[in-house]
Amino acid sequence: MAYGKTEVLKGVDLDVAPGEVSCIIGPSGSGKSTFLRCLNGLEPVHDGSLRVLGEEVGYDLRDGKAHPWGPKRFAQFRTNIGMVFQRFNLFAHMDATENVAVAPIRVKGIDPRQARERADEQLDRVGLADHAHKRPHQLSGGQQQRVAIARALAMDPALMLFDEPTSALDPELVDEVLEVMKALARDGMTMVVVTHEIGFAREVGDTLSFFDEGVVVEHGDARTTIAEPQHARTQAFLSSVR
Ligand code: ATP
Ligand code: MG
Repeated sequence: MAYGKTEVLKGVDLDVAPGEVSCIIGPSGSGKSTFLRCLNGLEPVHDGSLRVLGEEVGYDLRDGKAHPWGPKRFAQFRTNIGMVFQRFNLFAHMDATENVAVAPIRVKGIDPRQARERADEQLDRVGLADHAHKRPHQLSGGQQQRVAIARALAMDPALMLFDEPTSALDPELVDEVLEVMKALARDGMTMVVVTHEIGFAREVGDTLSFFDEGVVVEHGDARTTIAEPQHARTQAFLSSVR
């Protein structure tokens, strides 16, 4: 994967089994966000291949060949993957229920009333049943991020990607979001989580990958890798964030 002539990811190979929580750590600029963007098709893979959810992602641009999947197939692929960013980007003029219901209504064509009912169930799941009618500005950062998680879940994704979901939050709001993510992991959701929350990775991560300069420097069982990192760069990074 490259931006212009700069190769950002070099031979990254990561297997995430269904139900697994895969954590990614690494310094700024190491390619973590780029990798997640590849996983959900926001960034094309120019050289190499990408398999997600058991399928070769069909937008390989080698030889300048046309998109083998076509926009419909691609959109279908995208709806199967939920993404939660550092910034929540909720619609300011919609309440929590509407924010969660809007994609199922517009993208999946679900009946609006049914979509709102389902949205309220998702909000209940993230502990926001009492805040369904509030707009983003009436919610704390942690609550807004939980709405963003509910919004992603409303599309019934097979895979959830998280890109530093707690790093924009005030410290006292981090735990409520991590608790929701832990519950999701316990429910068997397949997750790829970029995070600096080493405690979270240790507690719920199955695997841990350390990215540096577009390469997976170290990958292994999360607890073992955190306790006994093998690579000097992983050791240095872990001691800097602990
Ligand atoms: P951070 O921890 O700061 O979020 P990261 O590991 O997520 O960092 P990426 O955002 O994936 O890193 O960036 C990887 C590399 O790609 C960096 O060198 C970055 O400058 C570069 N990059 C990212 N986005 C673009 C873009 N749109 N155009 C050109 N270069 C980009
Ligand atoms: Mg990033």
